[in-house]
Amino acid sequence: MGDGVRLADSALLALHKAHTRLAEQRWKRSTGDRRTLTWPEGALTTQFTGKRKCNVCGWRGHAFEVVNGIVEHSEAGLCAVCGSISRDRYLYWCWTRRVPYDPRARVLETSPRMPSLYRERMAERVDYLASDYDESMHRGVVRLDLQAIDLPDASLDVVLTPHVLEHVPDTDQALSELFRVMKPGGHVLLQVPVPQAVTKVPDEPEYHGDMTFVYFRFGWDLAEKIRAHGFACDTLVTQELYDAAAAGTCPWTHEGADCDVEDLLAGADASTMTVVATAEQALLHGFRPAYQFVTFHCRKPG
Ligand SMILES: [Zn+2]
Repeated sequence: MGDGVRLADSALLALHKAHTRLAEQRWKRSTGDRRTLTWPEGALTTQFTGKRKCNVCGWRGHAFEVVNGIVEHSEAGLCAVCGSISRDRYLYWCWTRRVPYDPRARVLETSPRMPSLYRERMAERVDYLASDYDESMHRGVVRLDLQAIDLPDASLDVVLTPHVLEHVPDTDQALSELFRVMKPGGHVLLQVPVPQAVTKVPDEPEYHGDMTFVYFRFGWDLAEKIRAHGFACDTLVTQELYDAAAAGTCPWTHEGADCDVEDLLAGADASTMTVVATAEQALLHGFRPAYQFVTFHCRKPG
């Protein structure tokens, strides 16, 4: 190994150490939006020239980890630092983009799938509570049924709920309970798979990866159902999905019965969509393919 290479290696090591120290200092002292601060753990392994970035922990690198041989999928694109997959990052993105930061905000996350370091970091960002219904896969802080939420009225500022509602038998009861526990002006970021245009019961018994039964395959009409419970509701998408809906085209094909992308796009109405990420941001954070990234932003009137 030549002196030049050794020099470059030691310079890079020094740069990494400085970058990590800076992240540690900011993490301890920053009074700004702590949701977008880089974790010291994210700084430590960052590849500075990387074209991918985790918006949960701040890690930057050349590629997210491939899951089951798939690069672009809502369930793929694993971040080695915080454990987020693409849909986790999109839900987090929707929260940080749509809801102003308040370190005192009471935030409930239902069944977060990221490991314990994520929960610790979240607790250092907001007043954080994680819950779960079925504790066989995830260990939450409290056990909680969305149909009978064991929390007082108007007690939460934010709820982050990733891929949970489709596993709840009574959608209306869950939405009515969510409305009850939200403070006026509170926000629910509700993420579910939207595999076709109109909500339906699965034709065949359907389970997701963790063997949880799927009661509903939701469609675009979920927004109307949410509004019927008193919330204002925006359907959050990326620019690529909006553009395809506006053009009346479907530039994607999807293998497998878990999604009918042609039907989804045939029933899509761009005028009902709110764009929260450019195509560049979607690529950077892994919100692709675009038709798998839909989140409903429900606001309780203040
Ligand atoms: Zn991460």
